[in-house]
Amino acid sequence: MADAFDLVVVGSGPGGYVAAIRASQLGMKTAIVEREVLGGICLNWGCIPTKALLKSAELYDALGHLGDYGLSAKDRGYDFAAVIERSRKVAKQLSNGVAFLMRKNKVEVVEGTAKLEQGAEAPKVVVALKAGGARELEAKAVILATGARARTIPDIGLEPDGERVWTYREAMVPKACPRSLIVVGSGAIGIEFASFYRALGADVTVLEALERILPVEDEEVSAAARKAFERRGIKFYVPATVSGLARGRSNVTIAFEAGGKAQKIEADAAIVAVGIAGNVEDIGLEALGVLVERGHVVVDAHGATNVAGLYAIGDVVGPPWLAHKAMHEGVHCVEHIAGLAPDNLVAPIPGCTYSEPQIASVGLTEAQAKAEKRDIKVGRFPFRANGKAIAAGQPDGFVKTVFDAKTGALIGAHMIGAEVTEMIQGFALAMTLEATEAEVFATVFPHPTMSEAMHEASLDAFGRALHI
Ligand code: NAD
Repeated sequence: MADAFDLVVVGSGPGGYVAAIRASQLGMKTAIVEREVLGGICLNWGCIPTKALLKSAELYDALGHLGDYGLSAKDRGYDFAAVIERSRKVAKQLSNGVAFLMRKNKVEVVEGTAKLEQGAEAPKVVVALKAGGARELEAKAVILATGARARTIPDIGLEPDGERVWTYREAMVPKACPRSLIVVGSGAIGIEFASFYRALGADVTVLEALERILPVEDEEVSAAARKAFERRGIKFYVPATVSGLARGRSNVTIAFEAGGKAQKIEADAAIVAVGIAGNVEDIGLEALGVLVERGHVVVDAHGATNVAGLYAIGDVVGPPWLAHKAMHEGVHCVEHIAGLAPDNLVAPIPGCTYSEPQIASVGLTEAQAKAEKRDIKVGRFPFRANGKAIAAGQPDGFVKTVFDAKTGALIGAHMIGAEVTEMIQGFALAMTLEATEAEVFATVFPHPTMSEAMHEASLDAFGRALHI
């Protein structure tokens, strides 16, 4: 006999658990199924534990520059195991927080692996329970929020072995800090780990297949990021075509082609960060006839799949593979199921890379705007002309804005520098409110803050910058 719910959510990452909370707020009897740990990749193996690691790296790095601030301290050092342990503790605390939120919202947590079968209003969810046995859940609607995992390329050896070849999972909990490290892929994952391990002293080399690092970012940001990372001692081969990875007893060797030359490099460890693949296997999607394209479930503007009562959100439906996009889709999808007619699925989604320096952006890059044949106005403002950045000893980086010249609408913003991941939300809010330059100009930015560079970069797009 199946247990009856209004909504069953499969997967408790940020998309799934937020959807469950919203459903409960709207009065739906809700269950959430999780096969591993509450909070999914984001809280346990992604966003949160890496931010803990990067905080340790940032502080360690700052200790190396105390003299710049008239300070001194003896014996800068780190205990690698303690750095990792802190990151695990942070992840555990957040996962426990999700358990608390589920209890508070009366969402039933079912621990086990879900599989979908033919149901009545929506597919039936059959859970192989962690504790043994099985349980059947029937609901009016089912949301698939099963996320994604690291893409690997086994043909050329780019797959983890738990020892010296890592994906983000292994890279987060190694026994020791490698003396040398090769990172394949320069997306957010590759760059954040390159930044972390370099700060702790590892010799880091990054191989990127495309023409530039962080290829989703604005070209000027990619170029400035590369320079900043090179100043910190990270080496890049861009573009590079990896042809093979060989494992030795205590090292790995990667063969690749760059600059028209076949080359090889050797290191203690390698991180494979070449994108991610949706978790669409072994859930029963084929038997139900759920449309899956290139490893991702196909959905409409509200998260509905082609199967009645079945919805999907977050990484499993495709890019951008970001926790906040999953949360946004989760809330939207539940409100749609509840008949609330939400209309905000296409809000601008900011992206952040928490390396040193940080990178953050929202909307169109200059090149994307030009490719759309838009008439644009572009503004820039460097942090070296910003009082707070100079006072803080963090004058590197800049803010770049892209406005539509015809309508004045802000259509893109790109930043590199200290704290920019905390600032991008200002531009995201402006774009969500469909601000033009007039609203940005009329906004008062507190002084002294680094955010004033956002104001100035907007003024600059119209030839009105004040401080440069
Ligand atoms: P990604 O797709 O962002 O980057 C992968 C990079 O690897 C690309 O630049 C790609 O050109 C390169 N690449 C692919 N195949 C290659 C090969 N054979 N050799 C060399 N380079 C190759 O993926 P990711 O960095 O693995 O991250 C996965 C997802 O998780 C991304 O969508 C990312 O946005 C998200 N993420 C976000 C954050 C954050 O917001 N801070 C942090 C981590 C991950």
